[in-house]
Amino acid sequence: ATPTALMVGTGRGAQLGILIKGPEVLESTRRVDTVVLDKTGTVTTGRMRLQDVFSAPEVDEEELLRLAGSLEHASEHPIAQAIAAGAIERAGGLPVPENFDSVAGLGVQGLVDGHAVLVGREELLRQWAIELPRELAEAKAAAEAEGRTAVAVAWDGEARGVLTVADAVKETSAAAVAELRRLGMRPVLLTGDNQAVAESVAKTVGIDEVIAEVLPHDKVDVIKRLQDEGRVVAMVGDGVNDAAALATADLGLAMGTGTDAAIEAGDLTLVRGDLRVAADAIRLSRKTLGTIK
Ligand code: ADP
Ligand code: MG
Repeated sequence: ATPTALMVGTGRGAQLGILIKGPEVLESTRRVDTVVLDKTGTVTTGRMRLQDVFSAPEVDEEELLRLAGSLEHASEHPIAQAIAAGAIERAGGLPVPENFDSVAGLGVQGLVDGHAVLVGREELLRQWAIELPRELAEAKAAAEAEGRTAVAVAWDGEARGVLTVADAVKETSAAAVAELRRLGMRPVLLTGDNQAVAESVAKTVGIDEVIAEVLPHDKVDVIKRLQDEGRVVAMVGDGVNDAAALATADLGLAMGTGTDAAIEAGDLTLVRGDLRVAADAIRLSRKTLGTIK
């Protein structure tokens, strides 16, 4: 392509709400055949709200919310923010944790009011040899089957409850997926969240390839595996946990509404965070490069 055509393409991109790092990006965009979509914050709004509070027998719901909310208040994760906000609403003020540590893709742990507290995936509790009792495991499974994300809460070596949060699928996501398919792309949903939740979201937007329960540092390996299969992969993401995968993909598209880490790692930024613009980007590059050949 001539430099002039690429500049015109780049300028047209800006009008569409696509920031392009360099003219060469349009070239890689044209060859893409697979689009990997992060779930939380990309396909869904990422604005979650606290839904159910299930506490173990003998455990006070307010205490559960206060201890879990206290730790989550210190975390930037969208799930954490929903739990902290819900806890403040339902239980009043939150104590400041004496100690706090976030475990990527698993949850948070720390010390609150002298209690060693864990909030996150069941996997996180298992690392401390804590199992969910049957009633809590059943409540969690039922919520997940309905598409809610459930996190477990434990303190002082025992599981104490399950909190669920729900996040809405963006109104534009299904149309975006349909548009990507029309352009010949294979959409794949990639998430650290639970399989049941991931499948429920995938069904809503029309994706049938789901890769769930992937730890943040393993998202890169998923991209590499798809590339090894001979696929040319675009990745769309918003989180700190997507940055490495965005950099590894043949084309990284960052949501403009996402984190700085994702925006820095991507080749393109979808300014308004509208997934339909990912399809516009592919169409634009085909048009820009196709007309000149
Ligand atoms: P995604 O890939 O969809 O953006 P993440 O990798 O950020 O999701 O998170 C994966 C899972 O880890 C979440 O669904 C949740 O179960 C758990 N998790 C991560 N951070 C937290 C947190 N601060 N509090 C509770 N659970 C968390
Ligand atoms: Mg995300």
